[in-house]
Amino acid sequence: MRKALVAGNWKMNGTRASTGELCKGIADGMAALGGVDVLVCPPSILISTAATALANSGVMIGGQDLDTNPGGAFTGQTSAEMLLDAGCKDVIVGHSERRQFYGDTDVLVAEKTQVALDAGLIPIVCLGESQAEREGGVTEEIVGRQLNAVLDKVGIAAFSSAVIAYEPVWAIGTGLTASPEQAQDVHAFIRRMLADKDQSVADQCRILYGGSMKPGNAVELISKPDIDGGLIGGAALASEDFLGICSAA
Ligand code: PEP
Repeated sequence: MRKALVAGNWKMNGTRASTGELCKGIADGMAALGGVDVLVCPPSILISTAATALANSGVMIGGQDLDTNPGGAFTGQTSAEMLLDAGCKDVIVGHSERRQFYGDTDVLVAEKTQVALDAGLIPIVCLGESQAEREGGVTEEIVGRQLNAVLDKVGIAAFSSAVIAYEPVWAIGTGLTASPEQAQDVHAFIRRMLADKDQSVADQCRILYGGSMKPGNAVELISKPDIDGGLIGGAALASEDFLGICSAA
């Protein structure tokens, strides 16, 4: 049985003060939760603030991205070692905003996944099609291409620990959510791709849904057989909403 994972992607939001409040709200709600792993991914500059505020709460901390280089003259970037040192266990790679605004290609996402794994970080590999791609009927082609790029680089065994997040781009931050059936279809497709290479890895790998998940739609989505939790953007910025999703999971 796969344990559900709910991960909050705070994106470029927060100050030390607001992060402290958000963390307190989440930490206070943790006692009422069971059977779910909870992770928050603050902006790099707030990771230490969150790690301090969430110490001993059971909430894990992750990064939102990482550089492929171990260190040096790479202005503005964050290395795997820095994330680990700040208290991260996980790191998001290939988020659609990275792919769309910062030129993260399939090849770069695969390299980032490898660097994360080599460093001992758990990558959360994001996959998803645009609105035009869904309307064009090529969702599986796009998601399959994105996943194959990573599988070719890191191999199937990596997915016994690595996490996948299916995030239809048209549902991210738009208020539009994939229907539970639409999401389940793509999750099942992803799991079949993994199973074609290794059934036991496919059975173990957690596949999260992301795209306007809220407390009101989380139960329906997460109760689908191949949806193992959520990657949450907007609703992760309010502790009651985030905890509502955790409790649904
Ligand atoms: C995300 O950015 O990963 C995301 C799922 O955002 P939202 O929940 O706001 O759609």
